[in-house]
Parts: sequence; C-alpha cells; structure tokens
Amino acid sequence: MDNKKYIEDLKSILGNENVRVNENMSKHTTFRVGGNADIYIEVDSIEKLSKIIETKRNIPLTIIGNGSNILVKDNGIRGVVLKYTAKNFTINYNEDDVEVEADAGIVNAYLAQVLMNNSVSGFEFASGIPGTIGGAIYMNAGAYGKEMKDIIFNVTYLDLNDNTIHCISNDECKYEYRNSFFMNKEVIILKAMLLFTKGEKNDIKATMDKYREKRVESQPIEFPNGGSTFKRGDGFITAKLIDEAGLKGKRIGGAEISKKHAGFIINKDNATAKDILELSKYVQDEVLKKFNKKIELEVRILGE
Ligand SMILES: Cc1cc2nc3c(=O)[nH]c(=O)nc-3n(C[C@H](O)[C@H](O)[C@H](O)COP(=O)(O)OP(=O)(O)OC[C@H]3O[C@@H](n4cnc5c(N)ncnc54)[C@H](O)[C@@H]3O)c2cc1C
Repeated sequence: MDNKKYIEDLKSILGNENVRVNENMSKHTTFRVGGNADIYIEVDSIEKLSKIIETKRNIPLTIIGNGSNILVKDNGIRGVVLKYTAKNFTINYNEDDVEVEADAGIVNAYLAQVLMNNSVSGFEFASGIPGTIGGAIYMNAGAYGKEMKDIIFNVTYLDLNDNTIHCISNDECKYEYRNSFFMNKEVIILKAMLLFTKGEKNDIKATMDKYREKRVESQPIEFPNGGSTFKRGDGFITAKLIDEAGLKGKRIGGAEISKKHAGFIINKDNATAKDILELSKYVQDEVLKKFNKKIELEVRILGE
C-alpha cells in the first residue's frame, strides 16, 4: 500500500497538524508508556470522520479516547490510531429532567464543570474519571455507586464496516460491569444523550469536592498509571487480596504495585509496557496461588 499517498489524503482532510507519523503513544496514555503508532490522527467532526473511513484502505484502525484505560505495548501500534476529539454539547431543560447531548471527545472533568455551573446534577460521580465521554461509554465507567449506564438515554456510533451511523437505546448498549455492546466491535462512539436532573450548584460542587478529596487520599495520582489495573472480583475486592498477598511495593523494572492502593500498578520510574505486563501477570499468579481467585485486567492492552 502507498502509505505516502494515504498520509497526504489524511492531511488534506484533517490538516497537517492532526496527522502524525511514528507518533510515540506514551504522549497519549496516562501510563506514559508505549511504542509508536505508525500514523496518529485527531478527528474533530463526524463529517471528517466519514471521509476518513471512505479513504480507509485495508489499514488497521485503533480508536482511543484520553488514553486513561489503555496500555500500549512497547513495539507500538500498526496502522492508524484515531482519537475522536469532537467536543460539542447542548443542554435542554425539561419539566422533570435535563437532557444533555454530548460529543464523545469531551473530557469528563470538563463536562462535569459545565454541568455544575449550569446547576445540572447527576454527573458528579464521573467528574474525577480522567477520560472522555466516548471512553466512559465504551467502558461503562463508574465510581461511587454509579455507572454510565445510569445516565445514558442513547448512544450514536459510526459502524466502521459500512460507514453508517446508528443510534441505540440504553438497553441496546448491553451494559454490564466495565463491559458494553461496543467492546471488540468496529465502531466509533460519536455522541450520547445523557439524562440528569436540576440541582443546586453548591451541592453539586460539594459532592465533586468530596469525591476529589477521596481520590487524592486513596489513589497514587502522583505517578503515571492507568487507574485500577484489575477488575473488581466476583464477591471479593481485588485490591484487598493483592494487599493481603503482601504485594504492595512489589517492583518489576520501573513498574510498581502502588504502596498507597494495591489495585493500581504505577509507572514508578521509566517503566516499559513489558514491566507493567510482567508485574500484572505476577500479581494474577500470586492471587491465584494464595487465594484461588482469578483476577482479570481492567486496563485494555493495545499494540504489539
Ligand atoms: C487515575 C485514574 C483513575 C481512574 N478512575 C476510574 C474510576 O473511578 N472509574 C472507572 O470506571 N475508570 C477509572 N479509570 C479508568 C479510565 O479513566 C476509564 O476507563 C475511562 O472511561 C477511559 O476513558 P478514555 O477516554 O481515557 O478511554 P481510553 O483509555 O483511551 O480507551 C478505553 C477503551 O475505550 C475505547 N474508546 C475510547 N473512546 C472511544 C470512542 N469514541 N469510540 C469507540 N471506542 C472508544 C478504546 O478503544 C479503548 O478500548 C481511571 C483511570 C485513571 C488513570
């Protein structure tokens, strides 16, 4: 395939600054590790996205949001990595609820701030989840007893196989704990209609402040990380088992099990993806050996 011509086509649709060749993925992941993407693009509208998909040859396409739940392997990602960055939103006040239509590229913290300023309540739980709306919908992200499934009315996505746009209801999103219809499908989440209620700005702010304090206290946010490395167990708390296995502080290369929160692997000192993956495997093996419990990665592994 003629990559040069393809890159020129991408540049003519997206502008030079939004097309990068051999882009280091550590710049686009909160773990701050990972090799190069052959081609990295940022796309800020549905129209441009459709054009890109039309020009797509047989080149693999990987979608990312804010990179806060992914681990990119050290040899990078072949083909194109696409970050959808559309950031529009509308707020409609109804009698009983508030409808918010939000593009997938909006960062949760920003939307939470805007909603707070507009006295719209219901998104406080996600204000500290460091991803985009698209990533949160894909992962069914959640915190403090609430998940995305509780606030979604519908989701609009682009099917990459035939370049068609679909809008599906909350039920059709097939939400489960950190799982959704969108996983392992060739789709790009474009936007969602979210349902909230009217609230008091001061109350919303107080809740968001309380959640932020809890995160600062309990999570190792002073080091690059990918959030909870493992999923919650069925009937057990994964981080508690890792702690009881005596693994806090365990290191492989530059990766370490956080001493602050055993559920987080941190990039302590120039870790590679290999270090993080080896440490994850070590944790899984130890927990299986000591407690006979299988623990699954929550972080999604990309690349080679
Ligand atoms: C410090 C820290 C704290 C965290 N706390 C929480 C928490 O409390 N609760 C929680 O649930 N998670 C938490 N996370 C994990 C992470 O923030 C969430 O999973 C988040 O929703 C991921 O969003 P993202 O935009 O960063 O997606 P990415 O990490 O970039 O991508 C995640 C997955 O979504 C897919 N994806 C992203 N955008 C799109 C799109 N538009 N269309 C199709 N697919 C897409 C990607 O292909 C990938 O498979 C935390 C992470 C960190 C670093």
